[in-house]
Amino acid sequence: MNIILLAPPAAGKGTMAELLVEKYGLKQLSTGDLLRAVLKKDDDEAKQLKEKMNSGQLISDDYIISLVKEELSSGNEKGYIFDGFPRTITQAVELEKILSNLNQKIDKVLYITVSKDISLKRTIGRRVCPNCKKVYNIYFNKPKNENICDNCQNELIRRDDDTEEVFLKRYDTYLNDTLPLIKYYEDKGLLEEVENIDKQETFTQISKILEEI
Ligand SMILES: [Zn+2]
Repeated sequence: MNIILLAPPAAGKGTMAELLVEKYGLKQLSTGDLLRAVLKKDDDEAKQLKEKMNSGQLISDDYIISLVKEELSSGNEKGYIFDGFPRTITQAVELEKILSNLNQKIDKVLYITVSKDISLKRTIGRRVCPNCKKVYNIYFNKPKNENICDNCQNELIRRDDDTEEVFLKRYDTYLNDTLPLIKYYEDKGLLEEVENIDKQETFTQISKILEEI
């Protein structure tokens, strides 16, 4: 079973991916993970990639596709969750080719949505303990004492990029970049939109969709 996860920022995609890995034994595949795996190898390829990234050059579609191809050929028999890939129609078409050569296909594209207001609050309300790294939210998951970590009594901090401005920019960029992809999968009849209001309920809904495959 191969699933693509699409979701705007702070829609809870990470949590859903974790639950899917746990329940179905799928392997989560993100471009970031693939690039990090190359960097770890510490060979010529890693060196070239590091230079490219350090100089701020874009990593080409072709290169990312070649990494995906390599990973899929080595195979996780239960299938994959694609997270952050494909990002473009070109990548989507290439992914189909790779899978088809392996006698596989994309079974579903899950588009996890949540209202912009809730996403915004998840972002700007986030507070983190600098000591034990526990994450709180002043709207949804408050510490017992205001701005103090329940575990270790350290003062909580707000990350620099958890601002409304950064959020709105990321959100709009995401929608602009992803709309063509959403349309593409909708036309293929693969898209399922799931609104993520309650974690458990959302996952139950997703499980039902996947069990119908
Ligand atoms: Zn703490």
